[in-house]
Amino acid sequence: MKPALFTLSGKVAIVTGGNGGIGLGMARGLAEAGADIAVVGRDAAKSTAAVAELARIGVRAISVVADVTDQAAVATMAARVAGELGRIDILVNNAGINIRKPPHALDIAEWNRVIQTNLTSAFLCSQAVYPAMKAAGGGKIVNIGSMMSIFGASFAPAYAASKGGIVQFTRSCACAWAADNIQVNAVLPGWIDTDLTKRARQEIDGLHDRVLQRTPAARWGEIDDFGGIAVFLASPASDFVTGTAIPVDGGYSIMG
Ligand code: NDP
Repeated sequence: MKPALFTLSGKVAIVTGGNGGIGLGMARGLAEAGADIAVVGRDAAKSTAAVAELARIGVRAISVVADVTDQAAVATMAARVAGELGRIDILVNNAGINIRKPPHALDIAEWNRVIQTNLTSAFLCSQAVYPAMKAAGGGKIVNIGSMMSIFGASFAPAYAASKGGIVQFTRSCACAWAADNIQVNAVLPGWIDTDLTKRARQEIDGLHDRVLQRTPAARWGEIDDFGGIAVFLASPASDFVTGTAIPVDGGYSIMG
């Protein structure tokens, strides 16, 4: 029998940075569709709280404390998820940071930190889960880009480079792993109300109002705006969708 389009019961999802912000919004959506969830982050207390919330939805949820820039920690994380939850079907590469400085002020350590957290981590995690997905006969990988996958920003050279890179990495994995029935897509969030952008709103004068003016939906996004796209890209509903980069931005990217 064909599986129901948007049902994820029996599936296991890893969400990096799933303990808060957009990652938690996606984890909630996946859990509500029936997936068991592994939340990956560095902050154990935040992850424990997120796991408790997800378990209340009625799925199995575990916290794996790991730094996604550390290859050995990522390998251990994937082995733990496969061991404790039994399989790996879905990976959301969502962990991310920004360091807001113009290119002439950013030092090499800062550049490396942003690229490693936002881009290299997606490579490490995707490579770590690939054998399990291939052995299971398929899988779904969702990478989180940004409006800066499309636009430049004077205050975010490493961030924009990492998010542009995420789109090309997505396309490359989609080509490489289509034969294994693994679909790989990117989501490009607009301006979303999270800890990350709370800091941006404090640091960048007028940002809050500029985003409102430029966004046709006339509001900042909420983390629960990401449940639907996560379920779509993680479920059989998207089995012929691969290599795309889908804006979830209230129309920000189509506003002239
Ligand atoms: P948050 O700061 O709320 O969440 C970031 C998450 O990443 C945290 O859960 C954090 O967990 C995790 N994280 C960061 N570094 C690491 C690391 N080295 N290892 C493991 N986990 C890590 O931000 P958002 O929810 O806003 O951002 C989520 C994603 O969405 C990012 O990729 C961001 O670039 C992207 N995005 C956000 C937009 C927005 O407007 N908010 C717009 C466009 C894209 P912990 O602290 O426990 O490590």
